[in-house]
Amino acid sequence: MQPRNAQLIWPNGKPRSETFDDIYFNEHDNTAETEHVFIKGNNLPARLDTGLFKHHFLSVGETGFGTGTNLFCLLALIDRCHKQATQRLYFLSTELFPLTHADLEHALTSFPAFAAYTQQLLDQYPPAIKGMHRFILNNGRCYLTLCLGDATQSFEQLSPQHNRVDAWFLDGFAPAKNPAMWSPDLFAAISRLSHTNEELALATHFSTFTIAGTVRRGLQQEGFLVERATGHGTKRDMQKGYFVGHSTLPFNTEHPWVNDVPQPTPKPPRLPTPWFTLPSPAKAPEHVVIIGAGLAGCTTAEALARRGVRVTLLEQGDEICQQASGNRQGALYAKLPVDPTLSGELHLTGLEYTLRLLKIHRLLDGKRADQCGLLQLATSEKEAQRQQQLLANNALSQAVVKAVTAEEASRIANTAIPHSGLFFPRAGWVYPKALCEALIDHPLITLTTHAKVTELNLRPCPTGATIDAQRWQIISHQGELTADAVVVANAHDAKTLTPLSQLPLKPIRGQVSSAPVALQASDNDQEATNDTKHLLNTIICGDGYCCPAVENNLYFGATFDLHKVTDEVRPEDHDYNLNTLGKMAPKLADSLPPTNQWHAKVGFRCATPDYMPIVGPAPDFDAYVSRYNKLRNDRKWPFEESPAPLQPNLYLSMGHGSKGLITAALCAEYLACLITGEPLPIHKPMTDALHPARFIIKDLIRNKIGR
Ligand code: SAM
Repeated sequence: MQPRNAQLIWPNGKPRSETFDDIYFNEHDNTAETEHVFIKGNNLPARLDTGLFKHHFLSVGETGFGTGTNLFCLLALIDRCHKQATQRLYFLSTELFPLTHADLEHALTSFPAFAAYTQQLLDQYPPAIKGMHRFILNNGRCYLTLCLGDATQSFEQLSPQHNRVDAWFLDGFAPAKNPAMWSPDLFAAISRLSHTNEELALATHFSTFTIAGTVRRGLQQEGFLVERATGHGTKRDMQKGYFVGHSTLPFNTEHPWVNDVPQPTPKPPRLPTPWFTLPSPAKAPEHVVIIGAGLAGCTTAEALARRGVRVTLLEQGDEICQQASGNRQGALYAKLPVDPTLSGELHLTGLEYTLRLLKIHRLLDGKRADQCGLLQLATSEKEAQRQQQLLANNALSQAVVKAVTAEEASRIANTAIPHSGLFFPRAGWVYPKALCEALIDHPLITLTTHAKVTELNLRPCPTGATIDAQRWQIISHQGELTADAVVVANAHDAKTLTPLSQLPLKPIRGQVSSAPVALQASDNDQEATNDTKHLLNTIICGDGYCCPAVENNLYFGATFDLHKVTDEVRPEDHDYNLNTLGKMAPKLADSLPPTNQWHAKVGFRCATPDYMPIVGPAPDFDAYVSRYNKLRNDRKWPFEESPAPLQPNLYLSMGHGSKGLITAALCAEYLACLITGEPLPIHKPMTDALHPARFIIKDLIRNKIGR
């Protein structure tokens, strides 16, 4: 289900849903109600004191994010009582009808006491884009994962091993007003992510304001012990309880409410892809080596260091960002397929995540990054039809994309554009090196340059090693290192390392041209006299792209060449880039000086056969082929649910192609959570789609791997 913005009315200045005819929060004392129903209802003050933070993080799940006030109340409690940097909150919430940014801003004026949190939420808040949105709040002491979409569908996509929940805040409009949400499937999905524990404080608890019988029976049916408790204010009762699991649901206990429902039958797990299992480390590593200091490596270093992990970043060149991340401007933009796909979802949610990092590091200053929007031009009739279909099939809000005529496009771009197209106001450009420099400027990250890695060996562990019986030995031109875990992020060079020689990576040559441009003042902006940005006000893209000028240079390109390997600048590629620019913005192309005054940068993007990045645990190639050999004859062979043969503590992030600015940072957040055992920011279908073993499985099914 696609999220759609909430339709609100504002009696007494407080938000009320027009669709559901129900309120978002108690007008008079909402924070007291949240504290009573959800925080005390889950027994959180006592459970936090007695060990819930044992795993270094508390994981809370919620139905119905609304204005986020339940999160703010909980954050206030944690900030008051649990100040250690390792005590992190993971708040997983769902919302099918998100407030618009303007409505949220209006609603949050009711909570001045939470201003420190509400501003962070507003700064990072996305438009109504389906999928999981990871926010970094309180300098990484709180992670909000907001799933925009239906609650049940969102929870069903998560893996119980990697997104377990300690406390459920079952909020939402009342079951009588919104029966579709409080369905048996919702309770089953909640149950899947819950866990039992002999120590009651550590088992999953839940609480809810509603005393509806359907909710009570639904929860009991799915293995929760339910009891009635005193409600808040004028509400006499509420419900709360904890998870006891399907097999141990007690009958005839002293609780008057627990016995209504017969012993339930557990549902079979929904895991049709045993080869895509992920590791679940019991403990975070102390030291991780990352090979490659481009976008993938630097974003992963930051995400690990933010979690307290020491990182050594090895780079073969003499500085960071030399290959695909080496351009002065990279477009931050999601090129969407006609129909909604996982790749489209990754690009849209990834773009929003990169924007958050840019805001947190204050890089949107017009020099290092600019959210200037992007015009995707329909330079052919076929592309115009594709764009219309895309708009019809994706139901995206105008805050994400809107159709524009050639006149509107020309106005937005500030130069003549002879094509209609799509305008993406959230897009922009980034200087990748500036982003990476800001990200790795962290006391836990050490960068070593001139460190080409030549060998990666698994060695028996010396005594006292931290997480496993084996450790990785990394041999580079700068000597030898050992690490608890290794992340390989050096694009196609990864294939030179023995455990990774089978990866299906291909380099794609790209030449970006840069032309010096004359100063040009905007009519209505006197201060802009020494700024050439007004030559083009937004990014334009068709068969190529062109960014607004920066430092009196216009950067545009890029060629796309699968066969050439030279890193020499080619004059014919300048001609190609000029021709492509001329089709998109003829006047702009005509105004450029001759090509002998231009410069260029040649880089190699690293692409995969399906153009999705390769991110996740590294497979043991031979063991995979032998374990799943039966797929050659029967793609539906019922393999046992045993863990897939992965290389221990070896992870990959590569194959981001020309999309690294939108995919690398979110994938880095995913890898860092996977490596440290913290809740994941992407769902299981997405981790499958990124899984480094997917090509082995596809090739086995097509019987394309030698025996
Ligand atoms: N916790 C919220 C707050 O602090 O503002 C209040 C939640 S409000 C009472 C209920 C929320 O549930 C609304 O934001 C509504 O859009 C959302 N909702 C309704 N149906 C839903 C569904 N099927 N999946 C996810 N969210 C849903």
